[in-house]
Amino acid sequence: MAEIPVPVPVPDADNQGFWDGCRRGELRLQRCLGCGAWRHHPRPICPRCQSFACEWALASGRGVVHTFTIVHRPTLPAFEDRLPYNVIVVRLEEGPFMVSNLVGGSAEDLRIGAAVEVVFEPLDDAISLPKFRPRRAR
Ligand SMILES: [Zn+2]
Repeated sequence: MAEIPVPVPVPDADNQGFWDGCRRGELRLQRCLGCGAWRHHPRPICPRCQSFACEWALASGRGVVHTFTIVHRPTLPAFEDRLPYNVIVVRLEEGPFMVSNLVGGSAEDLRIGAAVEVVFEPLDDAISLPKFRPRRAR
């Protein structure tokens, strides 16, 4: 049976800055130049003040697991060989939420409130996916 390719994000005018940052190993989020609010997912207008002006600001890459699930039945056949896998919602220190996966941890690390930090998983020359690993005290 032919291998089913995993879908790859396609950058567009609204999210190119996000993907450019990921490719460089930087978590860059939109920050409104009108009111200073951070936002994610990328979009053309600030939901707080309706300004179109924003910058791609460097985020800390740190956050906590807000919630998670374990996927046992894939939504797409391309993910079948990864089963079971986790999906987490991270509340970033800057405020926005981000959907991702926890990598490099044990089952005990997958819990609500766990401190995490971003790492980047290259898919190809243009796209690196932001993933999160447990953040340990240093
Ligand atoms: Zn704003």
